[in-house]
Amino acid sequence: MSDTLFTKIINREIPADIVYEDDLSLAFRDIQPQAPVHLLIIPKKPIVTINDMQEEDKVLFGHLFYVARQLAGEMGFAEDGYRVVMNCNEHGGQSVYHVHLHLLAGKPLGWPPYTEKLKV
Ligand code: 5GP
Repeated sequence: MSDTLFTKIINREIPADIVYEDDLSLAFRDIQPQAPVHLLIIPKKPIVTINDMQEEDKVLFGHLFYVARQLAGEMGFAEDGYRVVMNCNEHGGQSVYHVHLHLLAGKPLGWPPYTEKLKV
């Protein structure tokens, strides 16, 4: 697989506002924030979509959630609340094909994401 944008951010080939890093993951501010706080938490391992997750990656995905929880506490919005989202493929709205957790916070967030009337 060729390097994605996010691999280039990991390798410091393109700039990003990095807020956290460890051996397994990196967190940085989204370039087009959809909430007052909008962070992306990515594994350093270049997994393309959730569909490409292997059994060996289960702990790594849990780690991404743990980083989200830690950042929510440190950045002071844990009690007010926040949202974590991982989009998958076209219908999920994925645009960068290196899995990433969106961490959104800072205001009450809208729900649901699908606004057309559903047939029941
Ligand atoms: P997706 O649509 O794949 O779930 O999310 C990709 C996210 O990456 C989008 O929210 C988009 O704004 C963000 N993004 C795209 N290019 C860049 C970039 O070069 N730098 C940063 N920090 N975020 C980016």
